[in-house]
Amino acid sequence: MKLATKYIHAGTEPDPSTGAIMTPIYQTSTYVQEAPGVNKGFEYARSQNPTRKALEEAYAQIENGKFGLAFSSGVAATDAVIKLLAPGDEVIAANDMYGGTYRLFTKVFEKFGIQFKYVDTTHPENVAAAISTKTKLIWIETPTNPLMNITDIAAVAAIAKKAGAWLCVDNTFASPYLKNPLDLGADIVMHSATKYLGGHSDVIQGCLVMNDTDLREKLYFIQKSCGAVPGPMDCFLVLRGIKTLHVRMQRHCENGEKMANFLRNHSKVAQVYWCGFTDHPGYIIASKQMRGFGGMMSFTLKDDSVENAKRVLSSTHVFALAESLGGVESLINHPASMTHASIPREERIKNGLSDSLIRLSVGIEDIDDLIADIDQAIG
Ligand SMILES: *Cc1c(COP(=O)(O)O)cnc(C)c1O
Repeated sequence: MKLATKYIHAGTEPDPSTGAIMTPIYQTSTYVQEAPGVNKGFEYARSQNPTRKALEEAYAQIENGKFGLAFSSGVAATDAVIKLLAPGDEVIAANDMYGGTYRLFTKVFEKFGIQFKYVDTTHPENVAAAISTKTKLIWIETPTNPLMNITDIAAVAAIAKKAGAWLCVDNTFASPYLKNPLDLGADIVMHSATKYLGGHSDVIQGCLVMNDTDLREKLYFIQKSCGAVPGPMDCFLVLRGIKTLHVRMQRHCENGEKMANFLRNHSKVAQVYWCGFTDHPGYIIASKQMRGFGGMMSFTLKDDSVENAKRVLSSTHVFALAESLGGVESLINHPASMTHASIPREERIKNGLSDSLIRLSVGIEDIDDLIADIDQAIG
């Protein structure tokens, strides 16, 4: 089935009790049983909810996986994956990833005795070199946030397999429309559904998708035992968002390409980070593992003072100054003071994330208006 057809129909069957074409929002905490232990497969809504079930089926289908699990946020999904581990286990993680993931690893899980090693995963040999007998999980993000670095998923999957470790890929920036990590050998795909999957900046949610039955059982056990489940209304919103993922992503990609080229040719712009440029270091791998390059990019100015960056950030009219990404509307962000403020400055600078870096989530408005807005803001 082609992507457009799959996204519109994923997970949704007419409601068996009424024929409603849209999955109803089952706003209920419990289900009446005919006799003790005799139920219709639903006992208590932390463990099962029909709206969530439809969405979890949709998550599995759009990521070419067997099983999907929905969580109350992207970080709750990440949290569930780390809870597969035990004290003494080691995780190899990318040194350039979402600030909240880094914060969860360092500030929450390190104190429980889980060890994290951060390496530059754009060179898979660094991952291979960091493997030890304690390595249980490899965590990568590609393209990365905000520098758009690309990691070769198939190469890292082969290293993980050899080491007997799971590979989890945060696929938030690409969305399933641009890339499907399970097809490349990953064990788990994670998304912040808050972003492209929801697509309308109106919901916080996360998900995990996997093929292995045993892994699904372990993660489902964590989901119901720890309880970070999304409510049915939020599940409905993401189900609706997924139906237009393909048309939104097509426009994000078109607008993204035009914006990236505009910025690159601007006399006051120093560097543009976008993985669709043929001279981007990850271009060849990105073209191989992705169907397009998306609408996420970042750039620095020739006058690279923080004041100048802040001036541009405060001067846009169509782009809204806000954290988050992947919605229909365009957003502008200052990683050093906003999304990545939880990463210590020395770490940020070491990884190439300068204080003057500006990140754009190019939305699906008319590209002429978006370019005019950024042009006048740069001044
Ligand atoms: C937003 C984001 C997360 C965290 O997701 P929440 O839904 O905000 O909890 C994780 N990874 C990436 C790449 C993100 O952009």
